[in-house]
Amino acid sequence: MPSTFYTSVSDIALCQKCPALLAYKLHKGEKGVWKIGIKGNGFHYGTLFHKNISQVFFEGASDKNSELHAEIAASLQGGAESLEAVVRRNIFMPFIASRGEEFTAGQIFALARGVTVWVRAMWDFFSGIPSLLRSPEINMHTVFIPPEQKLKARFKLPDGSGLVVNGCYDALMFNPDRAEARLFEFKGYMKSDIAVPLSQSLIYSWLIYRHTGIVPSVEIIYLDEYAKEPDIFAPSAVTEMIKAGLPGLFMSVFSVMAMKKPPEFVRSGKLCSCCKFKLKCEDDWGKMI
Ligand code: SF4
Repeated sequence: MPSTFYTSVSDIALCQKCPALLAYKLHKGEKGVWKIGIKGNGFHYGTLFHKNISQVFFEGASDKNSELHAEIAASLQGGAESLEAVVRRNIFMPFIASRGEEFTAGQIFALARGVTVWVRAMWDFFSGIPSLLRSPEINMHTVFIPPEQKLKARFKLPDGSGLVVNGCYDALMFNPDRAEARLFEFKGYMKSDIAVPLSQSLIYSWLIYRHTGIVPSVEIIYLDEYAKEPDIFAPSAVTEMIKAGLPGLFMSVFSVMAMKKPPEFVRSGKLCSCCKFKLKCEDDWGKMI
């Protein structure tokens, strides 16, 4: 009999890493499994950065009546340094002044570096929008999409069952000069296995497409390092990857949630070697089933 399950983008990305890890999270209540296999400084601040820095920026940039909007508009004619100064003065410094005691000096430095990495990535995108740099006040509202857009879409399985996917992307911008959108995803760790952040971004892209009819390009920003080359994927590549990867991944998530058979095991030397379940995962799920 067809059934419907509800899931999140982060759980789907976890399943992409290893379906058994998703089973540990959902059926055994294991916490923090998403950190397995991730390289970084131990301070996983992607969400912290998103909520307190970039989200505040997008709220101001997309709201014509805010003071921040006017400051951002003025800075766009002064170059990337000018924009970075506005972000530091209006968002980063007030955040550190109110919550700095919660963090070590190293963590504050990491957040500060994240501001630089992110502003550089935005500026690269703006350089392809002459109308924005010419007349920021007129064009900002079409470039900056308000943050925290909750999206939901249903994937239908062959037997009529459904997987309802919910998610909030980090940041979305639109280039009116080229009629293109770009999705930015912040990752608070160093560049490691591209497959997991990319699969997350592909799911957001699919959700955006289902809501707007536009497939965005995708840029993944690693806040923990000054990457030599940004990871940017064009809409055509995103479309191909969605078609090739998402249906199978959605079906795999459905199977873990339904739990009518043991989860698949990724058996990846690199990932399994640092996984806390490496000596028992197959026994655990074999016994349970
Ligand atoms: S050891 Fe490997 S196969 Fe087992 S749960 Fe961990 S990642 Fe998955």
